[in-house]
Amino acid sequence: MPWDDPRPSLPRHLYVHVPVCRSKCAYCDFYSRADLGTGDHPRLVRHTLGLLRGWLIPEVRRAPLQTLYLGGGTPTVLGDELVTLIKGVQAMVPFTDDIEVTVEANPESLTPELAESLADAGVTRVSVGVQSLDDDALRRLDRRHDSASALAALRSVAEAGMQPSADLMCGIPGVSADTWERSLEGVVEAGAVHVSVYPLTVEQGTPLAARIAAGTADAPDEDAVVDGMDAAARSLGTFGFERYEVANYAMPGHRSRHNTAYWTGRPYIGVGGGAHGMLDVAHAQACTLAPDDGRDVARVRYSYVSDPFPGDQPSPLASLELLTVLDAAREDAMLGMRMTDGIDEGVAERAGVTDVMRSLADDGLVSHDDGRWRPTARGWLLGNEVFGRIWNAGR
Ligand code: SF4
Repeated sequence: MPWDDPRPSLPRHLYVHVPVCRSKCAYCDFYSRADLGTGDHPRLVRHTLGLLRGWLIPEVRRAPLQTLYLGGGTPTVLGDELVTLIKGVQAMVPFTDDIEVTVEANPESLTPELAESLADAGVTRVSVGVQSLDDDALRRLDRRHDSASALAALRSVAEAGMQPSADLMCGIPGVSADTWERSLEGVVEAGAVHVSVYPLTVEQGTPLAARIAAGTADAPDEDAVVDGMDAAARSLGTFGFERYEVANYAMPGHRSRHNTAYWTGRPYIGVGGGAHGMLDVAHAQACTLAPDDGRDVARVRYSYVSDPFPGDQPSPLASLELLTVLDAAREDAMLGMRMTDGIDEGVAERAGVTDVMRSLADDGLVSHDDGRWRPTARGWLLGNEVFGRIWNAGR
């Protein structure tokens, strides 16, 4: 009987990283490898399932998954092998009846046929990398698709009966305010019920950074980024979207349950090339990833960085971080301040940051009502200041 079972439970949330893309975008420093569809995809799927199998030890009870997120990279590069991967996961870990299954996709590898197959395999939402509906901007960023195929991809997700989500990028040099507005309107008209808006950032070592250094590309302008984020909040609000996290907007009932689990401190397993995960201490001890000698450990974070095609041997973890009770409480407070709902007073109290919250409120960065601390628009804009003051309080 599960309620008599003293073993720690497997987390209810699983992230699977698929570290391949058709080609690398100019700004991207994510862990992924260019793959024109010629990679050994069955082997990649076998390897990923092997990594998951490594977590299914007898000391840990298998609990049904509430959310499964297949991210990348570009999982849809795997084509039908992606369906094999999803079915392989389900064969190993039970799903709840109302599980949320999300797949990240890019327009060049999401055909209507694949959308149908994903829906048949139980996928409930697809996050499409649109970035912009300005074709010149897409070319400058080395994206492999144009605006028409991005809109077609969103429509094919909706037609297959799944929820379309669109990723957009603000602050791309050369994209006018009018074109940005048209990108926001365009994805909504194509059926998106969830929109993520991230600023273009220049990461060291990327082709974009080299082009900017060589004077052949413009750097993003900070004011344009702020204006773009403001325009997104205004425009998506008029379509009925709620901003529920600093970068995420959803129509009622369409928030990402998986990402909400991250922001509310729920444990999750991550498997695959560049994946990361977070375990509570009982689970981490059962896996011998945390000491069981009374030391102050509340949770464990880990990550993989491994070659996408390393053979069939499970990869070792690349990093392991042990968080104390106070660290975990501070982390909950910081993550909660990414969300419109903020955190309740009890979370701030446990994290020992009630005084910090009062001083952030004095500075106009958070507000306090109904027993909750919430970020203000200015607080979101100055997120690093808010997070830094919470994390470092009294240290
Ligand atoms: S598709 Fe996404 S993960 Fe792949 S290279 Fe482009 S930005 Fe990076």
